[in-house]
Amino acid sequence: MNVFEAAPDFERVVFATDPAAGLRTIIAVHSTKLGPAVGGCRIQPYATEDEALRDVTRLAESMTWKAAAAGLDLGGGKAVVIADPARDRSEALLRAFGRVVDSLGGRYITSVDVGSTTEDLDQIRKETKCVVGTSPFHGGSGDPSPITARGVLAGIKSSVHHTFRGTELGGRRVAIQGAGKVGYALTGLLVAEGADVVVADTSVDNVGRAVNEFGVETMPADQSLEAACDVLAPCALGGVINDETIPRLKCRIVCGSANNQLEDLDNADAMRRAGILYAPDFIVNAGGLISVADELVGWNRDRVLSRVDSIGRTLLDLLHLAQVLNMSTAQAAVEYAKRRIKKLGQLNR
Ligand code: NAD
Repeated sequence: MNVFEAAPDFERVVFATDPAAGLRTIIAVHSTKLGPAVGGCRIQPYATEDEALRDVTRLAESMTWKAAAAGLDLGGGKAVVIADPARDRSEALLRAFGRVVDSLGGRYITSVDVGSTTEDLDQIRKETKCVVGTSPFHGGSGDPSPITARGVLAGIKSSVHHTFRGTELGGRRVAIQGAGKVGYALTGLLVAEGADVVVADTSVDNVGRAVNEFGVETMPADQSLEAACDVLAPCALGGVINDETIPRLKCRIVCGSANNQLEDLDNADAMRRAGILYAPDFIVNAGGLISVADELVGWNRDRVLSRVDSIGRTLLDLLHLAQVLNMSTAQAAVEYAKRRIKKLGQLNR
């Protein structure tokens, strides 16, 4: 793959190795127009370098839009380490990665992502200060999942208001695909609001935890997208909204935490035609980023929660923008982010 073609509007794409530590990493800095690029480190045994490059650039770009739309003075970036987290994870590997991050002089700040853990960040922290989301013992704010769930709840309330003209969740049926860290916390928040919640998970343990804790209904994991409900909350995998699944949806709203829910941006047009409101994932799942980013200015719970609750307002603003510009909500979300970057982008340069 031609790197310049794969990442034409990226500020920097860095390839680095440390053979002794077994490190092969790519760090993509998409934009620092609003501030340093923040984004997690994904540890995954990619089959090819092309696949790793494609993933890191796609993820870094969406971090730019996520940070900008969330009102953060941060840019977007991402890192991938080509390794099997179960087999290859070692202190040497993580610290070697930390040194590469440090060499970027503050342009890129790393955090947790698929395949990496809070404990891994504690190791990376030994080599660089450019890391957020470490454990509270090491000065970080810890697992942001409950805060991410709170932002998704704010998104669901705004979506319900937009669709049904009322923010009351009492009696509204919400189907949650994935009762993991975010899905479990979201279940608790929705039940407290009086919603009628049904959960699905491929992990029997995670389903059991939600049932025991909150007394919710369950549904088979392979039928969760077809649940008849007001709100479908994808909180597991990316790519679940696509040409094949859209005709099968029986919900009025899709609003959940999973990253990259749409297989393709055009899927949002099909949702619009089907009369289903799609709450863009990177808008409603920004709570985790808002929380870890706050570590850069001294983590403050009240400030974080107030910012996370404002996700509901942001979503309403962009739903309005989508109507005005006659575009899908997904396109409007990118446009919303781009407008903020254009307005403020020169200031931090
Ligand atoms: P997690 O791994 O704790 O939970 C995911 C759950 O989905 C697991 O319980 C898993 O068993 C389940 N699952 C997998 N395949 C499934 C399927 N086919 N059907 C039903 N369930 C299935 O992850 P998480 O931290 O809760 O994150 C969930 C999603 O939200 C991910 O896409 C993640 O990228 C995104 N996200 C998370 C955060 C955060 O703060 N944790 C922030 C932003 C975005």
